[in-house]
Amino acid sequence: MRRISVFGATGSVGQSALDLVARDAGAYDVVALTGGRNVVQLAKDAQALGADLAVTCYPECYQDLKDLLAGTGIAVAAGPAAVAEAAAREADWALSAIVGAAGLVPGLTALAQGNTLALANKESLVTAGPLLLGEAKAHGATVLPVDSEHSAVFQALVGEDMTAVERVIITASGGAFRDWPVEKLATATLAEASNHPNWDMGQRITIDSASMFNKAMELIETKEFFNVSSDMIEVLVHRESLIHAMVGFNDGALMAHVGPPDMRHAIGYALHWPERRTLPVERLDLAKIGKLTFEAPDAARYPALALATRVMEQGGLSGAAFNAAKERALDGFIAGEIGFLDMSRVVAATLDKMSSQTGVQTADITLDSVLETDRLARIYAGEAFGQLG
Ligand code: NAD
Ligand code: MG
Repeated sequence: MRRISVFGATGSVGQSALDLVARDAGAYDVVALTGGRNVVQLAKDAQALGADLAVTCYPECYQDLKDLLAGTGIAVAAGPAAVAEAAAREADWALSAIVGAAGLVPGLTALAQGNTLALANKESLVTAGPLLLGEAKAHGATVLPVDSEHSAVFQALVGEDMTAVERVIITASGGAFRDWPVEKLATATLAEASNHPNWDMGQRITIDSASMFNKAMELIETKEFFNVSSDMIEVLVHRESLIHAMVGFNDGALMAHVGPPDMRHAIGYALHWPERRTLPVERLDLAKIGKLTFEAPDAARYPALALATRVMEQGGLSGAAFNAAKERALDGFIAGEIGFLDMSRVVAATLDKMSSQTGVQTADITLDSVLETDRLARIYAGEAFGQLG
């Protein structure tokens, strides 16, 4: 039996993963499941899959989880340290589907055990790509991409030589506001930004899709994961979300990955890698679909993309500053403190301040320097709220 753990099991990606696991439950020994406030779901899944351990990242949710699992023999724990301890348990395969920079420490911890880490948590690569991949290398651990675009690139690269790669194209749906007049974006509400045209995802990544901060993060994720330079990576607006990415080779060939917008494909590919197994996703009828469309992204509509280019060129700790400022700005937008377009202004102001004041461009990326950058960037981003004109 394969020992598996899922961090962020109660979220959108986590639940898609558990759907795949439950279909073949006899094949898996579930070591640990972690979640947040939805302890009812966490307890239900832990029981259904016979997990050894269930962890909520919130200490205040401990008693509820404990009560729900009383008498089951399933161990219960709470808090960030308990999530990291769950990640330290040996497993053959662990999925990090935590949202935000909180995924970094559990990811590093799982890799330190030599566990294979399937990574949906793009924030940890954006924040500390060299640290995370360095840890994997040091412990002979494998990192597998789960973000759909990166899974697509990974699949297009099977059997290929990286020296033959000229460019990597990741696609973007354009998000909730792709057809809005740019002048109207400043007034976009939380409800309007929380509605994705093609994918059903957690709220934070859905809003990040409307602003294209999600694609900005994915540009950085591409650079880090595949070790390609920023001028080799492109974003292409593709409304249908059926081609997830393309890899362009030196002979002019473009290998495109086409599939339904269902995360169970990318999760399942990582779960069964290096094999392919039958997955319960829709088979596309391209004749029925008829046509696929492509557009260049509009820089004025999506200022987040230029910020990603800046981060990729600057390197060092700027990814940690970028991610933390973006998380703080997103919190502010969700709380109604700042407007939709203010998010990119806050991130730009934070990057300006961080670049001038601290050693952001250092090559010395440690967990401490990353966490300190993250802490400072959140403060600067909060301060920038008050300076918006
Ligand atoms: P979600 O909000 O639906 O779920 C997040 C999970 O993380 C939940 O289980 C929650 O309890 C847990 N969590 C939240 N804060 C935590 C913390 N501080 N410590 C530990 N656990 C915490 O998010 P999602 O949409 O499933 O996305 C998860 C990750 O996958 C994100 O990094 C996202 O960018 C990435 N991703 C998601 C999709 C998608 O289709 N949803 C696609 C590609 C990549
Ligand atoms: Mg993606």
